Amino acid sequence: MISLSRILAQTLPPLPRWRAQVLLSTIRSLHQRANPVERNCNICGLNDLFRPIGWPLRPEAMCPQCGSLERHRLLKLWLDENRECIAGKRILHFAPEAAISKLVRPLAKEYVTADIARGRDLQLNIEKIDLPDESYDVILCSHILEHVDDRAALAEIHRVLVGGGVALLMIPVVEGWANTYENLAITEPNEREIHFGQEDHVRYFGSDFRDRIRRAGFDLEEFTAEGAIVVKHGLLRGEKLFIAARR
Ligand SMILES: [Zn+2]
Repeated sequence: MISLSRILAQTLPPLPRWRAQVLLSTIRSLHQRANPVERNCNICGLNDLFRPIGWPLRPEAMCPQCGSLERHRLLKLWLDENRECIAGKRILHFAPEAAISKLVRPLAKEYVTADIARGRDLQLNIEKIDLPDESYDVILCSHILEHVDDRAALAEIHRVLVGGGVALLMIPVVEGWANTYENLAITEPNEREIHFGQEDHVRYFGSDFRDRIRRAGFDLEEFTAEGAIVVKHGLLRGEKLFIAARR
């Protein structure tokens, strides 16, 4: 029988030792683990095997039809129970994800997309939003705050929301940490990947993320999914949606 390492050596360009070890361990694990099962995408309705994405690799994360990720399907679960939060509202969506846009746009009174790069309805810096006070009812902001000055961004989100308006916030959180990990000495992309999980992340939030939201002037609720529905829709265990209502 030909060994895995021999196959790899014949089919791949030479890999640094550590990467080769990761590859070998991954292939061995794939032989040992239970087979993947079909998941249900609650956004597009597809029942199929989900695709791997990310680093560390999340083997069943992405719907192959609509591209939804775990966090998008979690948000959809919340929206199913809280449609009135979106329906008929003026909505600003930062760094819009296509799967979420498709859900929200038809329900909104006004739906505007924004990004720091060009190509959306508005080109906006979330740390200094060039919009009048109290101009939107809902702001969607998923996986952005770990890239930017979150204090400035939360203050700006607060300013642009109407009183009682809602920010739907998602971030990667290390729930076991009391304190967010920031380190101004870490500036190089390689170092950031090691310290913060991605080359353009500037921190790992701990559970004190909640304090940061409240200090910015919001009341906070949280939503997560538990049990079999996590398996059904291929969700991340314990992932949270933060629902921040402007005081
Ligand atoms: Zn889908």
